[in-house]
Amino acid sequence: MIAQRTLKTLTKAVGVGLHSGQRVELTLRPAPADTGIVFRRVDLPEPVDIPVSAAAVSDTRLASTIARGNAKVHTIEHLMSACAGLGIDNLIVDITAEEVPILDGSAASFVYLLQSAGIELQKAPRRFIRVLKPVEVREGEGRKLKWARLEPYQGFKLSFEIEFDHPAVTATGQAVEFDLGSGQYAREIARARTFGFTRDVEMMRANGLALGGGLDNAIVLDDVKVLNADGLRYQDEFVKHKILDAMGDLYIIGKPLLAAYSAFRSGHAMNNQLLRALLSQPGSYEIVTFEQDSRAPQGFAELGMAW
Ligand SMILES: [Zn+2]
Repeated sequence: MIAQRTLKTLTKAVGVGLHSGQRVELTLRPAPADTGIVFRRVDLPEPVDIPVSAAAVSDTRLASTIARGNAKVHTIEHLMSACAGLGIDNLIVDITAEEVPILDGSAASFVYLLQSAGIELQKAPRRFIRVLKPVEVREGEGRKLKWARLEPYQGFKLSFEIEFDHPAVTATGQAVEFDLGSGQYAREIARARTFGFTRDVEMMRANGLALGGGLDNAIVLDDVKVLNADGLRYQDEFVKHKILDAMGDLYIIGKPLLAAYSAFRSGHAMNNQLLRALLSQPGSYEIVTFEQDSRAPQGFAELGMAW
């Protein structure tokens, strides 16, 4: 059986929020089968649980934010991406502030944390959302065009294309495809960092954003080049980060997808619209389990286990 997974033990991390610059502590805790991923604001007078779901996404400017009442958690996508990449279904995330720590700007630190705690197989089957019909969202025209699409696929693969008119980005690959069944998430995707342009930073800071951002948690570009002394971690790190983000944004649906995702210049907002479009179209998906590993897509039984 392809079983649900949680952690063997709890694990902790301390960092700062990318946008708030606030110090924050995270505790990742094992959770029973069918809990899903739940953020718990333990700093509030009464702790508030915010279960992750497409409908809980309240803001998608610059990052994915979930909310329940007045309680929020910003920038959940990199941790969600690590959970998607390692196939973690059930997790309680205690958090002491409004934003997940940015750590090194990628999902690699979260992968390391989750792997260090160990992955536990549970006595309940993983429930997958199998996409049955193509679903697409699209916006703008010409140079403003963006779109994202889900299509039926026995497994989970993503292809992403960006179009940045910047010498340091155009010099690298602007399109990439990744198949989760390859087992290469930790090596090929998780280490890709978020990126930002110095020309945007001043305006963002004036608006109280990117206060925790810098060269140790982002790729920073001026008008011509990458400013980080060590350069890029992957030749096509920019577009790989978009795959990383999309995996996190899509995992917010609450279950692993069996689908081919493709996107052109999509972002957090459009990824969430795509989930809502899928959920609102009757007959566009079904929930499936795999009683025998051999029936599951290639590589899915081993996800995240081979370290
Ligand atoms: Zn990101």
